[in-house]
Amino acid sequence: MSDIQIKDKEYIAGTYARFPVTIVKGKGSVVYDENGKRYIDMGSGIGVTAFGVADDEWQKAVNEQISMVQHMSNLYYTEPCARLAEMLCKKTSMKKVFFGNSGAEANECAIKVARKYAAEKKGAEYSTIITLKNSFHGRTLTTLSATGQDHYHELFQPLTPGFVHAEANNFDDVKRLCEENKVAGILIECIQGEGGVNVLDADFVKKTAEYAKENDIVMMVDEVQTGNGRTGEMYAYMNFGIEPDVVTTAKGLGGGLPIGAAILGEKVQNVLGFGDHGSTYGGNPVCCAAACSIVSRIDEALMASVKEKSKFVFDSLNGAKGVVSVSGMGLMIGIKTEKSASDIVKKCIEKGVLCLTAKDKVRLLPSLNIPMDVLSEAVEIIKSVCSE
Ligand SMILES: *Cc1c(COP(=O)(O)O)cnc(C)c1O
Repeated sequence: MSDIQIKDKEYIAGTYARFPVTIVKGKGSVVYDENGKRYIDMGSGIGVTAFGVADDEWQKAVNEQISMVQHMSNLYYTEPCARLAEMLCKKTSMKKVFFGNSGAEANECAIKVARKYAAEKKGAEYSTIITLKNSFHGRTLTTLSATGQDHYHELFQPLTPGFVHAEANNFDDVKRLCEENKVAGILIECIQGEGGVNVLDADFVKKTAEYAKENDIVMMVDEVQTGNGRTGEMYAYMNFGIEPDVVTTAKGLGGGLPIGAAILGEKVQNVLGFGDHGSTYGGNPVCCAAACSIVSRIDEALMASVKEKSKFVFDSLNGAKGVVSVSGMGLMIGIKTEKSASDIVKKCIEKGVLCLTAKDKVRLLPSLNIPMDVLSEAVEIIKSVCSE
């Protein structure tokens, strides 16, 4: 262990099982550790560095803003957050945005919006939020309640009440829970990320959204991981032909600075009023300038290249030795392997490729602009490790 790793082990709370690698710098999809070893980054900080590490345009946007004003309270206007909110609304045809600092906070905002909408429209007892089993929505006590995986819950009782979990891809179960409870909203990930890169059935997503609309239930999609170009569309729901009332996002939005957003559609655009919600750092001008530099580049050409690279990865891995199946969409890819995913990830690190896991799968979330030759080099290494 290096000095940095020893110090980290001593002073950082033990919530992370880190690999024995200390990253010191990088450019794009290539990063280096403290010994100068080169790695291809196929995880991009869990889908955060949308255009890679130390991207020129992103850096320029951050540096320019940081040299003007790095923070102002939400008592005053700043330009980058207004610009970013306009961009997000234009790209989604939605109406208003609330900015926070993380995915969990974006979901907290969505849940508050759903509950307030239902309380005013139907009565305060309409407070239940339906989420899916095997979902992941964050680590705060309320988003933990939303998360449909019991093992995250066990030692943190009591959680926030009012969450029930439906079977994914089982519309009858959603309907049953809507009939048995007084429901404010439904929150889903169109592709379950932490749950194992499971793409939901299009029919299930459509029926659920239609049912929500008919019954005036707030339909929310958690796009924290799937958002901002990751699936080959601006947001993953766009692949499913639905129009959600709330879209939450974070991770890739800031390209590496902390920002989360709850984007509100027509139905709920005016639910939040003065004092209903807030965040000291929410809409921070540096984070918003960073996010503007990301969102402004998520265009048709980039999405076409994401789809092309996705096809390359699927074609390369499908049927490869040691690979059971490949799931996902765009550059959000899960690989079910014959050997354990964590062993594969460890071996890939030795060979200079950083991958993630999701449940029992190897998960890839490379930067959206990963060059084709770098991607192909990484995929060859992953293939060879799977086949060993
Ligand atoms: C990562 C993630 C979150 C939590 O985001 P944080 O920024 O860590 O709070 C919520 N939902 C989904 C789908 C995620 O992938």
